[in-house]
Amino acid sequence: MNAEILTIGDELLIGQTIDTNSAWLGKNLALLGVQISRKTAISDSENEIISAINEAFQRVDFLLVTGGLGPTKDDITKKTLAKLYGCGFRRDEGVSAHLESIFARRGRRLLEINRQQADVPEVCEVLHNEVGTAPGMWFDQKGKVLVSMPGVPNEMMHIMENRVFPRIKNRFKTPEILHYTAVTVGVPESLLSKQLEDFEKTLPPHIKLAYLPALNTVKLRLSGQSDESTILRAEMAGYFDKMCKVCGDAIFVREDISPLKHIARQLIQHNIKISLAESCTGGFIANQLVMEPGISKVFNGSIISYANEIKQRELDVPTEIFRTVGAVSEECAKYMCESALKKFNADIAVSTTGIAGPGGATPEKPVGLIYIGIATAKGSRVKKYYLFGTREQFMNRAANCAMMMVKNTLFDDFGIL
Ligand code: AMP
Ligand code: MG
Repeated sequence: MNAEILTIGDELLIGQTIDTNSAWLGKNLALLGVQISRKTAISDSENEIISAINEAFQRVDFLLVTGGLGPTKDDITKKTLAKLYGCGFRRDEGVSAHLESIFARRGRRLLEINRQQADVPEVCEVLHNEVGTAPGMWFDQKGKVLVSMPGVPNEMMHIMENRVFPRIKNRFKTPEILHYTAVTVGVPESLLSKQLEDFEKTLPPHIKLAYLPALNTVKLRLSGQSDESTILRAEMAGYFDKMCKVCGDAIFVREDISPLKHIARQLIQHNIKISLAESCTGGFIANQLVMEPGISKVFNGSIISYANEIKQRELDVPTEIFRTVGAVSEECAKYMCESALKKFNADIAVSTTGIAGPGGATPEKPVGLIYIGIATAKGSRVKKYYLFGTREQFMNRAANCAMMMVKNTLFDDFGIL
């Protein structure tokens, strides 16, 4: 099924705001079996809005519109839609109550201009917006569906995910589309595709394999499309299992989540306490870990020991280490993780020490060199990696390598798969 996107806002046309809404919509609708055949950006102008909608409806039956729903005078989408559909307004009680509660919580008085956000064209169905003040609107007239949503990206996404996706399935005939994703770490795309060459040949035409590389991870996504939902589900599960078996140890997690999230969940599930001593990653790994709800159960704390003085004072790294092998060394990483294990009374401790660049390199120690240490009651191990990219990419790659090591340690020392 085809659909079009219409983004409205002067800011989109003068390059002040980049239209990220269309990209998100295109990607997420494709996953539901809705193909975007055209996207159009227009100004906040009545003539443009009316003609763009009329033209789109000559081509497709489904139009997604974002923007122009703010309470201020420059936003005219709602007024224009009422004119287009030849109807008046009604005040929606659900939206009114939501606005009152938002303003009461913020300790602000509700002005008439705010109240008017609860006024919607009579012929539309309200798509409730819990995360903002402007509701979405669903118009279904003469066999054509128009969805109008705020331009603010997170509000648009909220309305799509909670209100529009379920309605699409009921209103339009879309095929069943299933996606099964596994995440690999540390194996280049080219090697994976070589490994998977024979497997790929066995895939039927309605199941496709996509490689999605990012940093040192590659997502392997199997996408299947069919009208027979139950059969497709069974088929996909079988192929996904086969694919993961072919990749073996390269598979980090059989789910579309980051390596860090997977490890955080494993630690919580098995009640394994973790602590960190981060030098070159400066708290990046700790920051990513605390994104996981419930991590407080197993995350005691972390030391950011950027300076040698802190490595020595807080983590007992002997000063001779700095004089002899240097802070970026296997020995230093070993002291750091062993100290963090003891100091934080953890079950597993991770340390990082390396050169994020662009400066700080020596002939023996290039930018991107990093030592990652892991300590448990059974002992410690350190691995050396050469990572590349910007500082930001370095942090992400380092975190993924550290998680790979944690995963192996969870298996070796704790028997966790
Ligand atoms: P509006 O619904 O027109 O009040 O839009 C509110 C804000 O959402 C604008 O100020 C923009 O920053 C943002 N916005 C609007 N349209 C888009 C878009 N297509 N992509 C990303 N951001 C947008
Ligand atoms: Mg606007």
